[in-house]
Amino acid sequence: MARTASDRTLPRPGRPQGAAPARRPALSLMVLGAAADPHSERGVSCPGELPSPSDPALVRRAELARASLGDRAFVLGHHYQRDEVIRFADVTGDSFKLAREAAARPAAEFVIFCGVHFMAESADILTSDAQAVVLPDLAAGCSMADMATFNQVEECWEALEDLGIAASVVPVTYMNSAADIKAFTGRHGGTVCTSSNARRAITWALGKGSKVLFLPDQHLGRNTAVLELGMSTDDCVVWDPRKPDGGLDPDELRRATMILWRGHCSVHGRFTLQDVADVRERVPGVNVIVHPECVHDVVKAADLVGSTEKIISVIENAPAGSAWAVGTELNLVQRLATAHSDKTIVYLDKTVCYCSTMNRIDLPHLVWAMESLAAGQVVNQVTVDPQTAAQARAALDQMLALP
Ligand code: SF4
Repeated sequence: MARTASDRTLPRPGRPQGAAPARRPALSLMVLGAAADPHSERGVSCPGELPSPSDPALVRRAELARASLGDRAFVLGHHYQRDEVIRFADVTGDSFKLAREAAARPAAEFVIFCGVHFMAESADILTSDAQAVVLPDLAAGCSMADMATFNQVEECWEALEDLGIAASVVPVTYMNSAADIKAFTGRHGGTVCTSSNARRAITWALGKGSKVLFLPDQHLGRNTAVLELGMSTDDCVVWDPRKPDGGLDPDELRRATMILWRGHCSVHGRFTLQDVADVRERVPGVNVIVHPECVHDVVKAADLVGSTEKIISVIENAPAGSAWAVGTELNLVQRLATAHSDKTIVYLDKTVCYCSTMNRIDLPHLVWAMESLAAGQVVNQVTVDPQTAAQARAALDQMLALP
């Protein structure tokens, strides 16, 4: 099978099993669209000729390509994808649900992942070598995952070792991280978590060590530690990878229970306290529900907080006539509003904000990927090298075994 892999975790022959990969050279600045770095979560841009978005036959072409692939392909659609793409998904879900759905389809030769790069990596880790995971546009990355690079995390760990506290630190990485960060976590005895099980993951980690290094979303880490586990914000410090020693002095690190990585989601991080106040004024009786990737003050001011799956389920089960302001990605909020016209469902922010990287997967890219696969050409395959995959899998398996 032809492999046009986008490996950001390239094999390094000769490295002993279980050892840390060598440091990579620092990423250089690139002019947008003028170059690509395969080691970056941004991936590389789509090769080949894309159908025109204005092609009137686009939907028909997608239907024909999907039909011709039949059971050989399984199409996964993340909740934040566009409607034009989601209609071709065999299953929809959040990142972890989709990775598990992919793993549950061993007969599918091609797993077409309509989501972002770290999700396709997780699907590759959880599927068999006989299956190819395809990301229709390799430039569909995740700005949050990009905020924790392998080199930066290794540097942080070395600083903790120099300080003599690394042995008491257990890393916990959010699902929204690159495969090599998951591998780092597995190598150091930690676990992956999702927004639904972050509380259990941190509780488990604090039963094993006395501190947690939480990657890469500071908000999920802080919200879980403070609002669910009763810690104070003073128990949390933020490691800034752009500052020497993370911008922290040794005493701050020694005192902290939670060392939060300075990363955030560019979509959920936009919601403000003012947005919550405004919507309460605009929509009388509104219930505010937000994702735990939102900033701490916004989560505290909301009525409910929950993962994408929880938000969907709360709104589905809410009584007719109820009103909801939703702080998550706009494609999903719009679909919820259409599907539940008996309820008032509004976006928490007044300005429109889609996840720009998720939105890179559009119908032309999906048609191109499916037509290429139907013609026997595997395109945009995402692969993770076996050693990184094994170490990342250990962290994923630990998550599945969480008490
Ligand atoms: S919504 Fe946020 S965390 Fe999710 S893919 Fe987009 S930038 Fe990444």
